[in-house]
Amino acid sequence: MPDEFFADISDQKTPPTYRFFNGKEWVVSTSGKTTEVHSPIDQSVLGTIQVVTTAEIDAVMESAKTFQSAWEAMPLYQRVKIMHLAADWIRHFADYLIPLLMREIGKITDEAKGEIMRTADLTDYFADEAQSIRGETMESDNFPGFEKGKIALIERVAYGTVVAIAPFNYPVNLSASKIVPALLMGNSVVFKPPTQGTISGLHLVKIFQKAGVPAGVLSCVTGGGGEIGDYLVSHPKADIITFTGSSDTGAAIAQKGGMKPLVFECGGNNPAVIFPDADMSLTVREIIKGGFSYAGQRCTAIKYVLATQGVLDQLMPEIVKEIAQAVHMGDPRSPETKLVGPVISEQAAEHIEQIINEAVSEGAAIVTGGKRNAAYIEPTILTNVKPTMKIVATEVFGPVISFIAVKSMDEAVTMINESRFGLQASVFTKDEGTGIAFARQLNVGTVQINGSPQRGPDHFPFLGVKHSGIGVQGVRYSLEAMSRLRPIILNKPA
Ligand code: NAP
Repeated sequence: MPDEFFADISDQKTPPTYRFFNGKEWVVSTSGKTTEVHSPIDQSVLGTIQVVTTAEIDAVMESAKTFQSAWEAMPLYQRVKIMHLAADWIRHFADYLIPLLMREIGKITDEAKGEIMRTADLTDYFADEAQSIRGETMESDNFPGFEKGKIALIERVAYGTVVAIAPFNYPVNLSASKIVPALLMGNSVVFKPPTQGTISGLHLVKIFQKAGVPAGVLSCVTGGGGEIGDYLVSHPKADIITFTGSSDTGAAIAQKGGMKPLVFECGGNNPAVIFPDADMSLTVREIIKGGFSYAGQRCTAIKYVLATQGVLDQLMPEIVKEIAQAVHMGDPRSPETKLVGPVISEQAAEHIEQIINEAVSEGAAIVTGGKRNAAYIEPTILTNVKPTMKIVATEVFGPVISFIAVKSMDEAVTMINESRFGLQASVFTKDEGTGIAFARQLNVGTVQINGSPQRGPDHFPFLGVKHSGIGVQGVRYSLEAMSRLRPIILNKPA
């Protein structure tokens, strides 16, 4: 059944050559250029993807524009029905999609399953919530100097064509979290999946097509960001860009995108701050889970821990014990593997290894881990880390947690606020009042008290400040972000 359902997205050879979706049909690019996608688990070739041409991008942009107004004019309840059907298909094919995702991005079974099921739930929730998004009316006489006589009908309407770009670490969930609200609000979508994640992304697009998204409204262009990205984001027919990825790519897109509205989720470099009164066993569990899940390749991973030296001394033996119990690096398909599989590529692993070695050469000490084998980096704990070292000054997308001793909590606040990143921070203390007072001093998107950083539940607002993002996501906020206000003023002079 899955083979039949997904038949036209590839030539079905082994390994398959995947096609791209021009909004109407699944086709091979006229560029003749393709890219191989390798599994981070063992470097095997999973398939080959198309690198589309600028003319093919022009064509999907044209279709998106042509077909958008009929899509927006379709009654909302019909768009809602399509999304609920897509959610059903995602659940229906979960057993097929989970191993596909594991092979493509190296997620362990539970994490891959979590991503697929969460995507189905998110799609349903978006569809339900879209029905309560509505405009409003306003009268003129609230403002000094105005009499009655002007009535504003404030409608919420689509932007037009949304360019949606997703990262490798959640190629299904973070693609759906862009495509679904954009479509529900009546936009057409030109979607670019991450190279490593394209195969999973194409399957998702097929599901939306089968669920009934009309021809021309959703397309999927494939190829490296470095090859097709600039043309796509600077395209004059793109009305808004929604992007998740690194801060550097985000900054480059912002420059190229011109005056288009931007919704960005970018890099995170999230600290955990431990007060002396914290529940140490909870803190240790949350730090290990928060730092090492999906080998630390989450924008919300804990990257560094700030506490006074006394607290760190007390904590470290417990951290080492917890790693022995809760973490087991290995092949993500093995039931013995816990939290840490490979990072996304051997090249990414080499980069992480290099940054660890650099930190050590500058005085950091390895408590555990630190070694690399192919794309696998051992879960690593570093102490004696200084904020200026690359290991904490940049986002290191791997299983590495740095411990930094601070003299006071004021020093922790300064360090967090001076970072170029500002996604989330965690504070551990038994006194919630202390936690709230501390949270209020931090210039980050969200502060977690007694929990590790995370995106969900998905209806909560999710945002980054500074180089970590622009705009707000979360079900209602994403629907609002994918639409604009259109006030129409009725002037009725007395
Ligand atoms: P990335 O290298 O920045 O790539 C993200 C996406 O942008 C990919 O689809 C990539 O395509 C594309 N891209 C690259 N260059 C482009 C260009 N010049 N123009 C247009 N698109 C371009 O990030 P990643 O390695 O996939 O993902 C990890 C990063 O995402 C981390 O920094 C992580 O913190 C961040 N992230 C943030 C959040 C959040 O919610 N804040 C969530 C998840 C991930 P290719 O793959 O083809 O290069």
